[in-house]
Amino acid sequence: MSDSEYFPSGEKCHECGREIMCYNAFAPIGVRPFIAKKSCLCVEERRGKVIEKGRPIVREHMLDASGLSAKRYRGYTFADCITDKNNRAAVEAAQRFLEAYQDGTVSHGLLFHGPVGSGKSFPAYAIGNAIVESYPISDSLAEQYGKNSYYSTNGPTAVPVPLRIYNAVGLMDKIREGFDTLDLEKKEYFASLVSRCQRTPLLILDDLCAEKESQWTNERFYSIFHYRWERELPTIVTTNATPRDLFTRLYDRTADRIKSDCKAIYVPGSSRRKTA
Ligand SMILES: [Zn+2]
Repeated sequence: MSDSEYFPSGEKCHECGREIMCYNAFAPIGVRPFIAKKSCLCVEERRGKVIEKGRPIVREHMLDASGLSAKRYRGYTFADCITDKNNRAAVEAAQRFLEAYQDGTVSHGLLFHGPVGSGKSFPAYAIGNAIVESYPISDSLAEQYGKNSYYSTNGPTAVPVPLRIYNAVGLMDKIREGFDTLDLEKKEYFASLVSRCQRTPLLILDDLCAEKESQWTNERFYSIFHYRWERELPTIVTTNATPRDLFTRLYDRTADRIKSDCKAIYVPGSSRRKTA
C-alpha cells in the first residue's frame, strides 16, 4: 500500500502524539467497505528496539548452549590469531573448512594433532566462534528475548544450537556421572549428551585421548563417531596423540572412522592470540 492511500483519522496516538493514519480496507463482495486504522509508526520503532536488545542476548545463549561460553575460548577467533610458520597450515585449513561449511559444501572434518601447548585448540574454537557469531537470528526470536516475555510463560523458545563443542575429558566425566547417579532427571540429561554429540550438525571434540582410557569411554566414542560417519556429519578433533596412536588408544574401528572422515593436520607450534 502506498503512502498516498493513507489519510488522517483525526486521532492522535496515545504513546507518541503522532496523527493516526487510516485507509480504506479491502472488502470482499457483499461486505460493506470499512475504514481501518494503520498501526502507529512508534509501534514498529518500539519493536525494533526490543529486537535490537534481544539479538545479543540470543547470541549469548547460543554460545552458551554450543559450549563456547568460557571467557578464554571466546577470544579464540580468526581476527585475533597471529599466524606463523608453525600454525599457518592449521589456520588456513580451518578457514577453508569454515568457508566450505558455510557454503554447505563441506566434505570432511579436521584432525588437529601435535604436542601439548602447540595451540591446536585455537583453530577449532575459532571455527566454532565464527559459526555462532554469524548464525542468523530471526526477529521474532530476538523480540521474545528482548522483552523477556518468557518469564511469565512456559519458558523461552529454545535458541538454535549450530554446533557442540566439548572437551573430551569433561564430556566423558559428565556422561559417566549420568550412569552413576540415581537422580533420574540428571540421568536423563547426561544420557542425552551422547545423542547430542551424535546429532549435532558440527561436533568439535577438544583434546581427544586426554581422558582416562577404558573400554567404557571407548564404547561411547565409537557410538558417537560411528553415528556421525554413517550420516556424513563433520567432526573436528584436536589431540596430542598422533593419527597412528589413535589406533592403539581407541577402538580400531573408531580410529578408522576418524581417519576416513577427518583431514589430519599437524600443528608443531603455537597459534597465539594477539597480545596487544
Ligand atoms: Zn505512536
